[in-house]
Amino acid sequence: MPRPIEALVHVDALAHNLRRARAVAGDAQVWAVVKANAYGHGIERAFRGLRGADGFALLDLAEAERLRALDWRGPILLLEGCFEPRDLELCSRLDLWHVVHCDVQIDWLAAHKTHRPHRVFLKMNSGMNRLGLRPDAFRAAWARLDALPQVAEVSLMTHFSDADGERGIAHQMAAFAGATHDLPGERSLANSAAVLRHATAAGVAADWVRAGILLYGSAPDFPAHDIRHWGLTPTMTLRSRLIATQHLQPGDTVGYGSTYRAGQPMRIGIVACGYADGYPRHAGTDTPVLVDGVRTGTVGRVSMDMLAVDLTPVPGAAIGSEVTLWGRGPGDAQLAIDDVAHAAGTIGYELMCAVAPRVPMRVDEA
Ligand SMILES: *Cc1c(COP(=O)(O)O)cnc(C)c1O
Repeated sequence: MPRPIEALVHVDALAHNLRRARAVAGDAQVWAVVKANAYGHGIERAFRGLRGADGFALLDLAEAERLRALDWRGPILLLEGCFEPRDLELCSRLDLWHVVHCDVQIDWLAAHKTHRPHRVFLKMNSGMNRLGLRPDAFRAAWARLDALPQVAEVSLMTHFSDADGERGIAHQMAAFAGATHDLPGERSLANSAAVLRHATAAGVAADWVRAGILLYGSAPDFPAHDIRHWGLTPTMTLRSRLIATQHLQPGDTVGYGSTYRAGQPMRIGIVACGYADGYPRHAGTDTPVLVDGVRTGTVGRVSMDMLAVDLTPVPGAAIGSEVTLWGRGPGDAQLAIDDVAHAAGTIGYELMCAVAPRVPMRVDEA
């Protein structure tokens, strides 16, 4: 028998979260961001729940090819544009829309031979200082693109650094509006955090929102807000089973480094899940976990293939009991990936992207 660990991708949950994105984005069209193999869910699996999106945004050209192989004929946007000139050939062949974030990418386009003019999204660096042209260089780049026969349509884009936090987006909105107010073209500004927290402000949702993490049932601004607050639902379950139990006496320790010491008699369970499955090794004692749908916590260090859980609240648990590391448990039980990430000092994004290839992942059509 294979190890009992598995991951499930919930198609109904993806579709639900996409509907939530639409509800808050108003009239804007919705890009489903499916980079990083759909945030670890698998492009092909995620597509089944997200096919109602207006377009798909990603950055790996091989992932764009996989989407076209699924017969997706609608828009695909390359969020980082081309990495080298010959990528433009694939853009022409597969009709990919692409970001242009620097003058060098415009040089490549100017030298590109194509029968099909491209739709491009010119990206402004409005303060994030990652990709994009600064506001004072934006108009010149726009004029250059607009004059190229290789370009059919220029849209305008920027990305927020603090949509999830205190600083907010006003300073970047001002920089973007100042340099673009009289330029034509569709606009795209908002990521998940901006969609959820700021989409009611004028101009934020614009023509296209770029929804990523919210589609996958994680709150971009956890712990300020959780998925329940935003009306989102988990799209991935990581589950396994107990493969052993131990009775501890006061003073007994658990696992490598003996970081947990029992203060009283207690029972623990050993779960077939470790850091080689993608579970965060930095999760310390008391990271939330469900055993038979009952919330309890981990004890001691996470090992490569195993971790230990406190069975005090689940006296009936035994070898074979179902353990939910995150996602949907038995019955109505649920454990948000954000709760686990927070306890491990990281974010939901990282956990869902890190589920290891050795964990079998399958679609749950329920
Ligand atoms: C990843 C990404 C997004 C989506 O971000 P979320 O926080 O997951 O919503 C949007 N825009 C760009 C440019 C991105 O790289």
